[in-house]
Amino acid sequence: MSQQQSLVNWVTGNRVVEIPTEPFQGQLLINGEWREAADKEQLTRQSPAYGVTVSRYAKATVADTEAAIKAARHAFDQGIWSKQSGAERAKLLNQVADQMMARQEELALLEVLESGKPISQARDEVVWAAELWRYAAVSARSLHGESHNNLGEDMLAMVIREPVGVVSIITPWNFPLLIVSQKLPFALAAGCTCVVKPSELTSATTLILGDILQTVGLPAGVVNIVVGEGPEIGPTLSTHPMVDMVSFTGSTGVGKAISAAASDSLKKVSLELGGKNPQIIFPDCDWEAAVDAVVFGIYFNAGECCNSSSRVLVHESIADQFTKAVVERSRQVPVGDPLCEATKVGAIISAEHLQKVTAYVDEAKAAGAEVYIGNTQSPPVAGLQEGFYLAPTVIAGVQPSMAVAQEEVFGPVLSVLTFSDLDEAIAIANDSLYGLSAGVWSANIDNCLAIGRQVKAGTVWVNTWMSGYPELPFGGFKESGQGRELGRYGIEEFTELKTIQMHMGPRTNWWLSR
Ligand code: NAD
Repeated sequence: MSQQQSLVNWVTGNRVVEIPTEPFQGQLLINGEWREAADKEQLTRQSPAYGVTVSRYAKATVADTEAAIKAARHAFDQGIWSKQSGAERAKLLNQVADQMMARQEELALLEVLESGKPISQARDEVVWAAELWRYAAVSARSLHGESHNNLGEDMLAMVIREPVGVVSIITPWNFPLLIVSQKLPFALAAGCTCVVKPSELTSATTLILGDILQTVGLPAGVVNIVVGEGPEIGPTLSTHPMVDMVSFTGSTGVGKAISAAASDSLKKVSLELGGKNPQIIFPDCDWEAAVDAVVFGIYFNAGECCNSSSRVLVHESIADQFTKAVVERSRQVPVGDPLCEATKVGAIISAEHLQKVTAYVDEAKAAGAEVYIGNTQSPPVAGLQEGFYLAPTVIAGVQPSMAVAQEEVFGPVLSVLTFSDLDEAIAIANDSLYGLSAGVWSANIDNCLAIGRQVKAGTVWVNTWMSGYPELPFGGFKESGQGRELGRYGIEEFTELKTIQMHMGPRTNWWLSR
């Protein structure tokens, strides 16, 4: 097969809305007030899609971060939120969801401008995020403990759940609104108070969320938001003695650094980290559905997705034919201007990241793999020369030991590997430091169950890919993380268990007993 890069389906023109002439202005939310940074420093965000300045924020100092933590501690210790009933908390969480939907277009546009993702996807992200707030509202009302009535006649025990306390929430740039919504409403549902630090690249929608929380009447200090550089203020969020828990989503490297920093005070840490997720294709699969899922799995959010299926393992008997079908479909994926309705793959987050992604492709090529399509960087359309775009890229002949097959590329780059039987497929799937998700495509229930049981991953999709529900827990094995979000675990992560034992009637004296 030869490269036919000119056939990539670049999209431009007919934007749903024009790029605003004025950048978004953001401040820090500390103790219920919007503030500039103590030293008046600011951060500026250039759109990765359009190259223009789209946001300016106050850039928090360590002193600002400490002030935010103190506000959260004070609010928690006062009980202004933690002592409210689940029903009262649920009411407010539902109001947040309503407000998010009312401001859907505003949120989606900011997400597009800062992250480069397509507008249709950004709109969906607001819907999914609002659903998480609604589900957390249900959790706030249903959280409960257990009782033990079989410990003997004179003993009754209760196991109750209490909010863990002050939580530092640190989020990445790839799904800014969705990921904060996997954490914050559940922490609030449990009765915690929080300091939220969004990625410095995509902070706008988290700040709008702060505005929404103010509008619906969340008491001052319950949620505080600091925008700033991770290495500068992150360590304060992970080590401060007034913080009880750190909930982090981001890269495995930073997750390990946070875990190490937090270990000194033995804070609770939950980590949602990277993935190198395989989809395993058997010859008896539903061909059309599997091809579509592979294309969706790698190009959704331009591959900048923890669940990106950046490895496809194809049975050797169908490898050539299946790869050709994936390449053909890849050519048809609309790539380009994120503000166009038809676009499915937008811009890459930054010039540095684009360079990192293409370096993986070049390295694989040098090691003998074949680039069937893609790795083209500049869209041949007027008006987009400023942005960072990469055409859908498919690399075949990839060996399991290559960096492109082992490391999280985080771009629209698919590696095709082959296997000869079920055991080899499982071995290749598990030959990874990561264990976030995996998928299997087969009509044979034995294949599906074997993959489901033996692949080490937090989620296994059978004849589907990347479906998600607030009801189902999500998280990773191995270096993909620790702890779980969503489902009933979503709220339980933000609680401590307390055992209360109640003795009834006369108690046998210790010093008289034998
Ligand atoms: P990143 O680790 O570079 O940054 C994440 C956040 O951590 C940012 O807010 C950053 O400012 C902050 N940070 C950086 N250094 C820090 C430090 N020393 N202490 C505290 N905070 C610090 O990740 P990213 O590039 O923003 O996001 C991409 C990564 O996120 C990928 O690895 C992806 O797989 C992962 N991710 C995982 C999930 C999941 O649910 N498992 C979801 C989305 C993204």
